[in-house]
Amino acid sequence: MTRIAEIRTHPLSVPLAETLYTAHECHQKAHLIVVEVRTDDGLVGTAEIHATPMPAVCDWVGRFAELLKGRDALATTDNWEFLFSLTSPRPGGMFAKDGLPAPLGRSSRANVMAAIGGIDLALWDIRGKAAGLPVWRLLGGSGAPVRSYATGGFYREGAPLDACAHELAGYVEAGYRAVKLKTGGLTIAEEVERIRATRAAIGPDVLLMLDMNAAFSLDDCIRFAHEVEPFDIFWLEEPLHWHLSPTDFAVLARSTHIPIGHGERELTRHTVRDFIEQGGIRYVQFDATRAGGMTEAVRIAHLAEQHGVSIAPHLAPEIHSHLVAAFRTAAFGVETMGGSDRNPLSYGLYQERMQMRDGMVEIPQGPGWGSEVDWDFVGKHRA
Ligand SMILES: [Mg+2]
Repeated sequence: MTRIAEIRTHPLSVPLAETLYTAHECHQKAHLIVVEVRTDDGLVGTAEIHATPMPAVCDWVGRFAELLKGRDALATTDNWEFLFSLTSPRPGGMFAKDGLPAPLGRSSRANVMAAIGGIDLALWDIRGKAAGLPVWRLLGGSGAPVRSYATGGFYREGAPLDACAHELAGYVEAGYRAVKLKTGGLTIAEEVERIRATRAAIGPDVLLMLDMNAAFSLDDCIRFAHEVEPFDIFWLEEPLHWHLSPTDFAVLARSTHIPIGHGERELTRHTVRDFIEQGGIRYVQFDATRAGGMTEAVRIAHLAEQHGVSIAPHLAPEIHSHLVAAFRTAAFGVETMGGSDRNPLSYGLYQERMQMRDGMVEIPQGPGWGSEVDWDFVGKHRA
């Protein structure tokens, strides 16, 4: 049996060349945690966690590492269920007499789900390496290239309103056939101008998505949707304020013909289920590197497929391309950044970058993720 011997974290941080904004957040640094799992028979699995605060997430990975030592490294579902079970009460759990931690506090849930996700992903890498197969093949997928789209149009203080149009046209020039614009940060009238300029710059044949980072109330979002419908928008992503629920998404979905995307901030399949079944979303953007890992992402992909909904995982293409390759008829594709300015860490983390041609990325063919971490790069950018 291949047993878990050691789990380490490598938190990375690097300042951005320029401060970038979404409607919701100011980004001055890029952050990333690399998880490294070693087995007693010499296998090494790695994964990315995209979650903060990094010290808290790394602390949870460290605590879970002690509990996982000696367990079967290939039993991904079993290990996932074991860790997840610690998030809820169990008989006598408050006394921790069974040697396990007391039920984990509710304020830690996002960090705990990120830690579970990172460990799970590293174990999937190990499963692939133990079998000599890429993860997409373990999942039954094929190795043909998958579609990708480029995200851009972050706000920069003092930049002209139409700067985003030139930027996204550049991604089309580079070969992308689908681009996503950050929106929601300015007035509706200003946003309509940005979107009008972007559509004019990229032409009529390129797919254009809008990522709103939860900028709108329901009423404002319906008004916004009607204003941008003439620009042939492929999806509205995270359209509504964080506290609004599938009930509100359902009203929005009935009020516009533009499909709704959501999911990158969800922690489990259970809330994703409600957004699919009750909220009317058409694109699920669950991020295995933020919460839950591949084990939960696969469950969500099956759920989406059964409802005729597409998966469009949030960023981390070196990981998520494996899932997309395994759910081709139920997948839109993977998200990549048009340039390295927002994600210099993701850009340099692997020894080889994924190559994009004609809007498609080549998926890795080697065992596990098929993308080996560049440890010199990790050493240089340690937080
Ligand atoms: Mg987004």
